[in-house]
Amino acid sequence: MYLDHSATTPTDPRVVEAMLPYFTGVFGNASSAHNQGKAAAEAMQQAQETIARILNCSPDEIVFTSGGTESDNLALKGTAYALRDRGRGKHIITTATEHHAVLDVVELLADEGFDVTILPVDEYGRVTAEQVQDALHDDTILVSIIYGNNEVGTVNPIADIGQVMNGHQAKFHVDAVQAAGLLSLDVKKLGVDMLSLSAHKFYGPKGIGLLYVKRATSLKPQIIGGGQQNHRRSGTEPVPLIVGMAKALELVDDEREKTVKSLQKMRDNLIEQVLTTVPEAQLTGHPTERLAGHASFALEGLNGDAILLDLNEVGIAASGGSACTTGQQEPSHVLVAMGVDPDRLMGQLRFVIGKSTTAEDVDKFLYHLTAIVNRHRQMVPQQD
Ligand SMILES: *Cc1c(COP(=O)(O)O)cnc(C)c1O
Repeated sequence: MYLDHSATTPTDPRVVEAMLPYFTGVFGNASSAHNQGKAAAEAMQQAQETIARILNCSPDEIVFTSGGTESDNLALKGTAYALRDRGRGKHIITTATEHHAVLDVVELLADEGFDVTILPVDEYGRVTAEQVQDALHDDTILVSIIYGNNEVGTVNPIADIGQVMNGHQAKFHVDAVQAAGLLSLDVKKLGVDMLSLSAHKFYGPKGIGLLYVKRATSLKPQIIGGGQQNHRRSGTEPVPLIVGMAKALELVDDEREKTVKSLQKMRDNLIEQVLTTVPEAQLTGHPTERLAGHASFALEGLNGDAILLDLNEVGIAASGGSACTTGQQEPSHVLVAMGVDPDRLMGQLRFVIGKSTTAEDVDKFLYHLTAIVNRHRQMVPQQD
C-alpha cells in the first residue's frame, strides 16, 4: 500500500502510452531541420500549448527542465544573478518551510552576498501576505514562496501574496510542485512571475519539470550550450518526457475536482481516526488549508522512523518528512519552524494518499498503525 504520494507518484498508464511513439517512431532532435526534427518540434510545441492552456499563459513562457529542483534553481539563481547584474538590488525574501531546492539555493546566495529575509511561519506552517508586504524593500528583487508544503501539506495564500507584489519590481516565484492536480495553477490569478512544477509529482515521468517564466522576466541561464529553448535552458529537449508531462498535467487537470473531493473525504477520515486511536498524535500543518491527500502528524515520545520501518514490514510505504532527508537524524526544519514541541520532533509521520487509494486501504492502514503504535508505546520506558 503506497501512502507516499508527496515523494512521488506512479506514472499513469495513459501517460506511458502517450510517450511511447516518441522513443522509436518520432525520435528526432527538435532542433533538426529535417522532417524527423520537425515532427519532434511539433510534438513539443503541442505539449507547450497544452500546458499553457492549464497555466493560463503563452506557450513560449514554459521552460522545460529536469524537474522541480532544477526549476527552483533556475528561478532563484537566474533571477538573482540577472537582477544583481542590472543593479536592481540584492534582497531576497523566502519562508522557513521551503523545500531544500529553494532553501539551499537561498543559503548559497546569502553566502555570495545577497541579503536574505526568511519569513517565520505560524503554528500551521503558513505565511501571510502582510508579512511579505512588510518585508518588501526598494532593493528586493525576488520573493519565493512554497504553494503546498511537501512535509505538512499546508497551503500558502499565494494569490493574496501575488496581489501584494503587484507593482513592486521584485519577481514572485512559487514552488508549486505539490500543488499540481490539486490546486489552481492559473498564473494570472495567482499573480506569479515564475512557477515550478515537476511531472513525477502528478503521475508523470521522472526527470522532467518546467518553469513558467512570465514574458520580460530577466533570467540568467544556468545550463548553457546549444542555446535551446531561447537560450533559457540548453540541451536537447527530451521529447518523450515533455509529451508525457503535458499528458499527465492534462489528465490531473481534467480530473481535478473529482480527485480533490474524493481525496479530501478519505484524508479527513484518516486524520480523524488517527487522532482518535493514537492519543500521542498531533496533526501537523493546517487543519483545512492543506493539500487534498495529505495527512501528517507528530507523535509525542515515539520514534517515527521506527514506526515507518514496522509499517514497511506489513507492506505500507510512508515516510516522515521529505523523502530527500529520510535517514537523517536531524529534526525537520519545517516542524522546527512551526514550533512543534521538542518531544514530538522525532515522531514525524506523513501519510499521503493518491488517486488509487481506496477507503478499504485507509481502514487497513489504520488497523496496522494502531497495532504498531501500541507495540512501540510499550517499548518506551515508563516514568514513575
Ligand atoms: C519534490 C519537490 C521538489 C523537487 O522536485 P524534483 O522533481 O524531485 O527535483 C521541489 N519542491 C517541492 C515542494 C517538492 O515536493
